[in-house]
Amino acid sequence: MEVTFLGTGTSQGVPIIGSDHPVCLSKNPKDKRLRVSVLVEWDNYTYAVDCGPDFRYQMLRSGCKRIDGIVFTHEHADHVAGLDDIRPFYFRQGDIPIYAHKRVLKSLVKKYDYIFATKNKYPGAPGVIANRIKNKPFQLKNLEVIPINGKHGDLQVFGFRFGDFAYLTDMKTIKDKEVEKIKNVKVLVVNALRHEPHYSHFNLDEALDFIKKVNPEKAYLTHISHLLGFHEEVEKALPENVFLAYDELQITI
Ligand SMILES: [Zn+2]
Ligand SMILES: [Zn+2]
Repeated sequence: MEVTFLGTGTSQGVPIIGSDHPVCLSKNPKDKRLRVSVLVEWDNYTYAVDCGPDFRYQMLRSGCKRIDGIVFTHEHADHVAGLDDIRPFYFRQGDIPIYAHKRVLKSLVKKYDYIFATKNKYPGAPGVIANRIKNKPFQLKNLEVIPINGKHGDLQVFGFRFGDFAYLTDMKTIKDKEVEKIKNVKVLVVNALRHEPHYSHFNLDEALDFIKKVNPEKAYLTHISHLLGFHEEVEKALPENVFLAYDELQITI
């Protein structure tokens, strides 16, 4: 399995528009973070987790030519605002399967009514096949994917386990029985916003405590704010098996 980090930044991305913060002004490409998303590929299949406002550029940058579906964690704009840009895939492949909690599907129908229109649909609008995810395993082609239920402040959010890889973002609290589902994964990705606590995201200490609890071989941090600091400085201070993800990083599991 191959995982490509399409984006590793928090909701505003890094740099932030108009910001003079030193991390926003950094020349290191690893300090430039588009909104979070990963591409997960196995056999000949390609799935994206979330499609935020940078989706078009992320698809161009990664050279992705075909997509088998999009799995959504939750409905915040930084995770869904690129849905219209599935059009090139739709024109070539037809309706694109999407997978989400029923509340998230409802929110997508509201935000993108024209995509879901059943009458007089505009011919240029993309089409999707909506699949509802409950908190139980579901099939993506030949792989069983296990949702991990968590809370993002008060909002329910799904993380996902794809074989030996688990991807959890926008998490703040996760019940022990959900954590059990990802024990013994080889690679865990989890959100770590900044040093200061936040009401709906793990800060760095919470992310590191969570990683200890799950005990994967390797862990990568994502959904990073400029306030976490410079990539190189932060990574030096991390435990041996924990890394900061960065845009375009590819890992093989
Ligand atoms: Zn987010
Ligand atoms: Zn969010």
